[in-house]
Amino acid sequence: MTIGIVGAGITGLALAHHLEKADMEYVVIEADSEPGGVIRSGRVDGCLLEWGPQRLRRTDPVDELITDLGMDDEVIEAGETKLFVYADGKLRRAPFSIEEFGQTDLLSWRGKLDVLKEPQTEPADSNETAAELFTRKFGDEAYRNLIGPLFGGIYGSEPERMPVKHALSGVMLMEQKYGDLLTPVLKRAMSGGTSAPAISFDEGVQRLPEALCDAHSKRVHLGTAVTEIRNSSGGYVLETESTLESDSRSESWTVEVDEVVLTTTAEVSADLLEPLTESANVLTRLNYNPLALVHLRADCDREGFGYQVRHDEGLDTLGVSWNASMFDRDGVYTVFLGGMKNPELVEENNETLGKIARSEFNDVMNADADVLSVSRLDRGFPAYDTSWDALEEFETPDDIHLATNYTARMGVPSRIREAKGLATVLAESIGVRK
Ligand SMILES: Cc1cc2nc3c(=O)[nH]c(=O)nc-3n(C[C@H](O)[C@H](O)[C@H](O)COP(=O)(O)OP(=O)(O)OC[C@H]3O[C@@H](n4cnc5c(N)ncnc54)[C@H](O)[C@@H]3O)c2cc1C
Repeated sequence: MTIGIVGAGITGLALAHHLEKADMEYVVIEADSEPGGVIRSGRVDGCLLEWGPQRLRRTDPVDELITDLGMDDEVIEAGETKLFVYADGKLRRAPFSIEEFGQTDLLSWRGKLDVLKEPQTEPADSNETAAELFTRKFGDEAYRNLIGPLFGGIYGSEPERMPVKHALSGVMLMEQKYGDLLTPVLKRAMSGGTSAPAISFDEGVQRLPEALCDAHSKRVHLGTAVTEIRNSSGGYVLETESTLESDSRSESWTVEVDEVVLTTTAEVSADLLEPLTESANVLTRLNYNPLALVHLRADCDREGFGYQVRHDEGLDTLGVSWNASMFDRDGVYTVFLGGMKNPELVEENNETLGKIARSEFNDVMNADADVLSVSRLDRGFPAYDTSWDALEEFETPDDIHLATNYTARMGVPSRIREAKGLATVLAESIGVRK
């Protein structure tokens, strides 16, 4: 049985890796000339920049890949999680331990008491918004000063527009398991345990998909777009076309597969599935948050991962990643603009975006900065807003699977975990068919 994987981002490549480990046949087809999808790392003026994820957590599935690929020597680890929120005109440290919770100036004593009362609140309702849930459970102040900026920052989004059922399904499961949300947080804090360490690689996060691609290069076709998926006897035919201008093989070629895994954005998946299911077009309704990334170079001595900006601070900046401090990256800071809060801003020209990023960085960090790069992502983060209701109308054709950041969580560790889980399901399904 052969699995056709569309896309060599981290999901497609991690899936390939685990299928290989399970001795399964597969082929990966990637439109771009390089692997990684939204994970992009590279140098500008000698500085290492990230145009996608700035870091990832070394969870067990990530660790397994690093070990399998022999990449331990390339891993660089950030220190303890130290994140700030810009609130009331000042950078204030977000608490990640009981001691920090006691000390934080993001919450008054009354605000801290409200947080501790969470176990007495009603359970999450899947139809309330993330903002309503956090406010109801942890109080106004904790939502406004802490959880709103940190949670919204992860997705470049506004929790007021994200229903719990789409944005916080994991949190609901956690609540069902422990009876409330505070208990697991306290348990982790008391055991001194923090999340898995934040890591990158000497040459950036893209090294991980590159190493996966190298390890499985015989079955990964870069510079090749899947243009059509057709039914064939008992399986599917993938029509492909070279996307490389210099490629003499500009004619299309086809490959027969038994099952197909799509790791592409909702719009591409809708297009490819249109001949196979009438419901394909519902995928085009899913919203993404457009983003602009401005990379700055500055001379600062702040230690930590970076900051998120409280929504009512009057800044366009959503947050800033301190690559310089996290991974010793030559004075590099990455400013995120746009998102669900201000999508139109992403359409401004590079000069305007650079100016905004520099000037707000100067206001917050009190440091001059040079602009190294300005870039945009039309389909930056999945919005997980009410447009996700459309998925209820989607019917997946037989033997086609969606493994993507719009059907499950978007973080790199979640993408790898989902890919591994799907490889297990596919391997088991062979056993059943035999
Ligand atoms: C700016 C940004 C910052 C982020 N920060 C973090 C972070 O700090 N930590 C974290 O854990 N996660 C972060 N994420 C999330 C994470 O990086 C992504 O969710 C994840 O990398 C998505 O991987 P994927 O393989 O599912 O999809 P993609 O990376 O989108 O891969 C899909 C692939 O399909 C290919 N493709 C498209 N059409 C076709 C076609 N017709 N034929 C063949 N191939 C096709 C594309 O070229 C692409 O390579 C961030 C994401 C972004 C955008």
